[in-house]
Amino acid sequence: MEKELQSLATEAKDFLQNLKDKAEAEEFRIRFLGRKGHFTSIMRSLGNVAAEDRPRLGQMANQVKAEVEKLFEQKKIEIEQSFGKDKKLSTPDLTLPGRCPAGGRLHPVTQVMQETCAIFESLGFSVAEGPDVEQDYYNFEALNIPAHHPARDMHDTFYVSDSILLRTHTSPMQARIMEAQDPPLRVIAPGKVYRCDSDITHTPMFHQVEGFLVDKDISFADLKGVLTVFTRKMFDRDLALRFRPSFFPFTEPSAEVDIACVMCNGAGCRVCKKTGWLEILGSGMIDPEVFKMVGYDPEVYSGFAFGLGIERIAMLKYGIDDIRLFYENDQRFLSQF
Ligand SMILES: [Zn+2]
Repeated sequence: MEKELQSLATEAKDFLQNLKDKAEAEEFRIRFLGRKGHFTSIMRSLGNVAAEDRPRLGQMANQVKAEVEKLFEQKKIEIEQSFGKDKKLSTPDLTLPGRCPAGGRLHPVTQVMQETCAIFESLGFSVAEGPDVEQDYYNFEALNIPAHHPARDMHDTFYVSDSILLRTHTSPMQARIMEAQDPPLRVIAPGKVYRCDSDITHTPMFHQVEGFLVDKDISFADLKGVLTVFTRKMFDRDLALRFRPSFFPFTEPSAEVDIACVMCNGAGCRVCKKTGWLEILGSGMIDPEVFKMVGYDPEVYSGFAFGLGIERIAMLKYGIDDIRLFYENDQRFLSQF
């Protein structure tokens, strides 16, 4: 029994000497000091020794165990400290993979804007840009909307002065380009427009693409063809189109264009308010009055124009029901596109 205790003490000390980390410390604790460890089994075997030897051996066993426990506690502290020290002194591990910053991406409105331009460019349209701060003349007068015309009420205009305003649509580019160039013309004008309006389907600033084509013998069928190609490419499927008679001062006749609901394919749902149709843009044949204003002969030339809201298209394309999400800069929203 005495010899057994001595060899156990030696074994335990040897083990402690070579202890390097927390895992080995735990292994030591289980093997020597745990409920099924060597010391416990020695204590239990005390019951088998002669009664006169029992007190002496019991005391001895307790001493050895206490000594080993003390050494073990010291070793644990050493391990703890050397672990911290190692960390401070060690050089960085250059083989570890780095932390990548989140990748940037284009805003969904920018993506749809670029896609829209690309589709019309593939049909031979060129892209033109104009000023956001516009003259009343180009925004209204040249588009057959004189002062006090009731159509001005629909625009909720931000005025800078009596004759200067933030453009309420991209249509002023029609007048600017026709004034400067002769037909044939095939142009789209993308950009920001401003209206004093804000709710779940309106923001004070939004994006529009104005498009127009002027040449000899242009008819409503050409308008229909161009818009059919656009909607099919934009929504990636063969969507039905519907032209509803409407009124715009700068086109005659005018039509609002609906597509078969992209959510329910025309069956009727919450998004299309059970009608099966979604309004996506306004269009029409350019009014002869507009041609006269820029000096074209309406007897020789004809043309069509259309204007579409980029946010509206993006909402339908991606199934978004609140326009304000585009402008809240929430990374969780933006990173989905
Ligand atoms: Zn629907």
